[in-house]
Amino acid sequence: MTLEYSDKKALVRVDFNVPLNADHVITDDTRMRAAMPTIKHILSNGGAAILMSHLGRPGKKTLPDGSIDVDTFTMRHLVDHLEKLSGAKVHFCPVTVGEQATKMAANLNPGEILLLENTRFNPGEKKGDEAFAKQLSELADIYVNDAFGTAHRAHASTTTVAQFFPKGKKEFGFLMNSEIENANKVLNDPQRPLTAIVGGAKVSDKILLLERLIDFVDKLIVGGGMAYTFMKAAGGSIGNSLVEEEKLDLANQLIAKANEKGVELLLPADSIIADNFAADANTDTADSKNIPDGWMGLDIGPKARQAFSAVIKGSKTILWNGPMGVFEMEAFAQGTLAVANAVAEATDAGAFSLVGGGDSVSAVNKSGLSDRISFVSTGGGAMLEFLEGKDLPGITAMEA
Ligand code: AMP
Repeated sequence: MTLEYSDKKALVRVDFNVPLNADHVITDDTRMRAAMPTIKHILSNGGAAILMSHLGRPGKKTLPDGSIDVDTFTMRHLVDHLEKLSGAKVHFCPVTVGEQATKMAANLNPGEILLLENTRFNPGEKKGDEAFAKQLSELADIYVNDAFGTAHRAHASTTTVAQFFPKGKKEFGFLMNSEIENANKVLNDPQRPLTAIVGGAKVSDKILLLERLIDFVDKLIVGGGMAYTFMKAAGGSIGNSLVEEEKLDLANQLIAKANEKGVELLLPADSIIADNFAADANTDTADSKNIPDGWMGLDIGPKARQAFSAVIKGSKTILWNGPMGVFEMEAFAQGTLAVANAVAEATDAGAFSLVGGGDSVSAVNKSGLSDRISFVSTGGGAMLEFLEGKDLPGITAMEA
């Protein structure tokens, strides 16, 4: 960050969309902690920080009369924890814009934080409304975007607001910069061999990613539920495993494209199969192309664990998005854990590793290995779109 913050007010878009339990207690504060370097930088340089974020999906879960469920989605739940993390005085503003927000922003002292109410309480937020964005911009001298997790959304607080600050009055925060820098390490001139690991439930969610990856990776590992669409496309029997019938042709096209480009495509040779989608189901091991009727593949098997791990350990750059199995259930978490371990070992040995995408990030956190990964992204959908080569509106808006 290069701007001068002394005696300035900075409007900072953070991603404080943290999970809360039924008692409104934060259950994972990773996103809040990730924004602290930027907030502390502004405060310690004599500035004041006006923070804005969305929390949850208040528009989707309204009260019976259609009004916003303020008690559930208010940012007020975050105030105490924000004070603890930042060590600064935090004022809470129960609105995002309007008279009270203007007054509270004007009265804010250097070194203090003003936390605005949930941006999605305002109907203009998701529409990218200009009038709402302009009102937000009038609260501060400088705009800082540190919300990589929402950079793929053209919302008022993530994108439109940037147009009301000229160049020299807006910049990315540390988190945003490091997300972009680290993703670019994989995309631009990576050390080779470069291996991408893609897992998760559906091929359809990851088509663009797979297509793009085949253009520049050396090896592509495909695991998780999506692998069975590839297995079936190649003529295998997959029992009751997850399959997208309408994507069988696409799977064959991807296999052909990988061959054409000389990309080694690795699919799980074997699977942990279950007779039910349940934590206490009966389990067995089977060839992934020979799964009996009534059984389904819920994790990669021991041969696949070994093959995938060997490739990962031989790589110099590793990108991982999506779990290898239903890792939420212990019986089907071994594959994802083995991959997490292999990525950590490769990183110990000098490889660069980036894990992006909500579920693989929680798998890495759960395994306690996140400290041994070069970079764990905070942006699920945003990282996916960045890697797919799309322009993210929240980033583009800052360059205008
Ligand atoms: P995604 O959000 O696309 O990355 O998918 C993550 C989800 O895929 C997780 O909730 C996993 O439980 C699920 N998943 C992974 N492997 C399988 C599988 N073999 N069968 C069904 N679901 C799976």
